[in-house]
Amino acid sequence: MPEFFNVLPPAEALEVLKQHLWVAVEGETVDTAQSLGRILAESVRSPEELPAFPRSAMDGFAVRARDTFGATEGLPAYLKVVGEAPMGEAPRVATFTGEAATVHTGSMLPNGADSVVMVENTQQVDGTTIEVVRPVAPGENVIQPGEDVRAGDPVLEAGHRLRPQDLGGLLALGITTVRVARRPRVAIVSTGDELVTPNETPTPGQVRDVNTYTIAALTAEAGGEPVPVGIVPDDYEAQQEAARTGLERGDILIFSAGSSVSVRDITADVFNSVGQPGVLVHGISLRPGKPSIVALLDGVPAFGLPGNPVSAMTVFDLLVRPTIHLLSGRKEPSAPRSVRARLTRDVASAPGREDYFQVRLTPDGDGLSADPVFGKSNLIYTLVRSHGTVKIPMESAGLYAGQEVSVVVY
Ligand code: AMP
Ligand code: MG
Repeated sequence: MPEFFNVLPPAEALEVLKQHLWVAVEGETVDTAQSLGRILAESVRSPEELPAFPRSAMDGFAVRARDTFGATEGLPAYLKVVGEAPMGEAPRVATFTGEAATVHTGSMLPNGADSVVMVENTQQVDGTTIEVVRPVAPGENVIQPGEDVRAGDPVLEAGHRLRPQDLGGLLALGITTVRVARRPRVAIVSTGDELVTPNETPTPGQVRDVNTYTIAALTAEAGGEPVPVGIVPDDYEAQQEAARTGLERGDILIFSAGSSVSVRDITADVFNSVGQPGVLVHGISLRPGKPSIVALLDGVPAFGLPGNPVSAMTVFDLLVRPTIHLLSGRKEPSAPRSVRARLTRDVASAPGREDYFQVRLTPDGDGLSADPVFGKSNLIYTLVRSHGTVKIPMESAGLYAGQEVSVVVY
């Protein structure tokens, strides 16, 4: 029986690849409004001050703080209202000692005023006079120019993944385009004599290609651009040609299936024949997903993923997703969204490998319970029916019913 040689834990397999990779994809300019999820290729500094003018943070009256000192319900300060600071234009009024101007949240403060009295702390005496019943300090209820960002301030770092609030922040400064990393292209080759496309009707012994589509979707989710190359039979020359096509079109190459060590598994040989240095890791201490390949082919990271869809998705998460991030120059670790839940059954594991299994989550008192979805790893519907995955660490011999676990949700 053929054996795996240098079997490595997932994190070490990734480390081996990282040592060989130093180039990131080039940058491109996109509209800021369309840049959600993209990775900044350059750091951004603010070209201007925000806000650009002193703004009222409240509805009320712009005043000179000094005029309100000591004001109380019993002994209010009387101020003359000389006009209004309208929204969207510079106020035409200025306030002098003993004067106030009506302001709205976001109005520009009139010249002369240094603070805003909330409308709740005033009373209208007549058409032009108000009583102020509580004092304000200078600057109170005013957003100062540059208080949000000062001109020249660094606002976002290269390698940052743009979030909705970042788009808002950039556009508030008039930054309508940004330099981002081009999405790394992931060429996907599905190998196997048994495969047909989803719109064909399989004859007995055939199955529809699942991996092209799950891997393409995972790629898009991870910030890459999927480039499906197609289905290729278990034929050495045909696979070499597909690998060469994939290397031309992709920044990353993925081969699905044929990644193990039997005579029918030719991915490793194909990889070694099309680029240098070839296979770096063959075999990962992981379940599902042990028969996986990590290679570097003339500068292009390549992965041989197991054919079974559950394994392929597990290995994608551990190895391909971080490689897409690496090539995009993404700096922050991607923190997976996880929840705590109580396991409903014992789950055994062998020490010396990482295990991943799927769970369904159900509300349980004020928490959640996680019910393992077992199935042979060839069943795509174990994934469809589950809400997330649980990891059993390398050194652990298993998890117990009732134990609290962290579930990474899809
Ligand atoms: P292999 O990795 O070649 O040993 O394949 C393992 C299992 O995954 C076999 O049952 C294959 O039929 C199945 N398989 C391989 N490729 C795909 C694919 N693209 N979509 C769905 N199942 C696949
Ligand atoms: Mg096969």
